[in-house]
Amino acid sequence: MARAVAAVLEGPKNLRFKEFEIPAPGEDGAVLRVEACGLCGTDYEQWLGHMAGWGGGMNIIPGHEIMGYIESIGPIASKLWKVKEGDRVAIEPIIPCGHCEDCVKGNYTRCESDKGYGLYQNITVAPSLWGGYSSHVYLHPRTMVHKLPSDIETDVMTLVNPLSNAIRWIYEVGGVGLGTTVVIAGPGQRGLLAAAVAKRAGVSNIIVTGTSGDAARLKLARELGATATIDVQTEDPVQRVAELTGGAMADVVLDVSAGAVAPILQGIDMLKRGGRVVLAGLKGKNSLNGFPVDKVVLREIELIGVLSAGWQSTELAIKMIESDPAMFKSLCSHTFPLERAEDAVRTLGRETRDGNEAVHITLTGPSVGGNP
Ligand SMILES: [Zn+2]
Ligand SMILES: [Zn+2]
Repeated sequence: MARAVAAVLEGPKNLRFKEFEIPAPGEDGAVLRVEACGLCGTDYEQWLGHMAGWGGGMNIIPGHEIMGYIESIGPIASKLWKVKEGDRVAIEPIIPCGHCEDCVKGNYTRCESDKGYGLYQNITVAPSLWGGYSSHVYLHPRTMVHKLPSDIETDVMTLVNPLSNAIRWIYEVGGVGLGTTVVIAGPGQRGLLAAAVAKRAGVSNIIVTGTSGDAARLKLARELGATATIDVQTEDPVQRVAELTGGAMADVVLDVSAGAVAPILQGIDMLKRGGRVVLAGLKGKNSLNGFPVDKVVLREIELIGVLSAGWQSTELAIKMIESDPAMFKSLCSHTFPLERAEDAVRTLGRETRDGNEAVHITLTGPSVGGNP
């Protein structure tokens, strides 16, 4: 009988390939044959061991941005998920419990159960196949499954997860719309996708900030819809936003920068009264000194933290990719086969460089290129 092959993170920077039995789907679950898994900053943090002690810790199959083909599915799952064998699907990283207070209120991404893919259960939890760096993934009965179009290229399609985040952060939570001004701090994958979403949403001024080292990404931001970019090392970002908006300032600032807290303080200064800062970048436990409480109170500034996406933003992401796949191709910088998982993670962390700016990295499984 065929067996699954997966990369197991045994310790920091230590991925090892192992074989596993492919489980039966049961009445209410399924088995996914992995087409691809997208990588994000969290994958690199996990690989370094910074996520140990959180979720599944070590001895885990990483990979939480998973898509593939339904290899086998139980009748109950097929009915509830409205998918059948051979269908191409994306799965959400979180497996909601369905019973905690947040789940019953519909905010299932805040579920208390801490169950999900790639970051949660390790291989000691049966049937072990809980991550996307694998040929197969077991789909738990409460998995959130989205049907995908069959004709979009693999690397572009793996943008569903980060794009769903960008849609939730800037559109659903940020509330940007026609004629507004948004500043996006941090031209990483999610910041760039947020610029594309803002353009779609009719935002007038889409301003993306980055450092001098981000020149290639800032250029990409302009191609995707940014109306202006700011190099924060050579320009005063607050002053530039004032100039670019004729003094009106921004309605929304989305912070997707990693580590640095300065963009949050600058973000507060970039806002008009009643403006909103959406916080999505993790700061490595750095705290914010010099937080201007009075300014926030007097100007009625809103600060909102966001973590992941949800059902609606994932569906919107699929539609957005389907309507213009070519636009997203420029973000897809690297694709590696599963056996080169370590190269993929090192490229993501900019440890190895091939001259091509790492923006969106895809790890491909056995079903890449279509359903055999
Ligand atoms: Zn991710
Ligand atoms: Zn729950």
